[in-house]
Amino acid sequence: MKRKLEILTSPHAGYCFGVKRAMRLIEQGLACFGAPIFTLGDVIHNPQEVERLEALGVRPVASLDDVQEGGTLVLRAHRVHPELIREAERRGIRILDATCPFVRRSQHFVKQFGEESCPVIIIGDREHPEVQGIAGHAGAGVIIVKDAAEAAALAPLERAGVVIQTTFAREEAEKIIDVLAARVDDLRVQDTICQATEARREAALALAQRVDLMLVVGGKNSSNTKRLFQLCVDARVPARFIESADEIDPGWFASTRRIGLTTGTSTPDWLIDAVLKRLEEISACPPP
Ligand code: SF4
Repeated sequence: MKRKLEILTSPHAGYCFGVKRAMRLIEQGLACFGAPIFTLGDVIHNPQEVERLEALGVRPVASLDDVQEGGTLVLRAHRVHPELIREAERRGIRILDATCPFVRRSQHFVKQFGEESCPVIIIGDREHPEVQGIAGHAGAGVIIVKDAAEAAALAPLERAGVVIQTTFAREEAEKIIDVLAARVDDLRVQDTICQATEARREAALALAQRVDLMLVVGGKNSSNTKRLFQLCVDARVPARFIESADEIDPGWFASTRRIGLTTGTSTPDWLIDAVLKRLEEISACPPP
């Protein structure tokens, strides 16, 4: 007798638009300029894909000092500090800019606020490269708040323009905006939360209601994958967080029939295919 698992994959699994675009740029860079191609840190938060790319000649480096003059540097989808770009250009480094258009939109808004001498508030994690990049475009005096408590501690302002880290949770952002609205007379909010991330979270939540167990596939260092997993846990659906098919334990499915599968925005198709193949193998085997 076979187990006969039913596997339902989220319609929002695999790379998001911005990561797809970045990966295409890397492929084009390799084809046009040859290896090596450099990235500042890992190009995406997926250790298996970073390893595959390294074998093709895509090398993560810690700083511009590790890139020789005339070398090719890919700027990641979220890492875009303007001073870094200027320094790379001064050093004669060729830049392939993979900045996601959604992140660029936030940069555009903070520049606009700056031109109107309107103080800028960024809602987000100040350690995140995207927030640091946007802050770089906002110039001096930018305020970063990560939660409602920080917003409540701000001195009152006559006016301020707000942008939000693209991957920030909407519910949390709304709480912060409510607090800011009580402290800033003229508050102008630009909703810069990425729709792709929101759609993925909503699809994962809907799928979690229909299955016995959720498999969340992605880098353990990927914050959006961690958040997807937490979403399933909070919905009280049994869930497992894996990076690759090797981590799957057939024992997880002893009393399970329907499995939902979702992934972070940096999970490549080849890893998803390997997970699906492993689940099919387990499904074809008799239960222990
Ligand atoms: S998560 Fe959204 S903002 Fe970030 S790279 Fe993907 S599409 Fe762009």
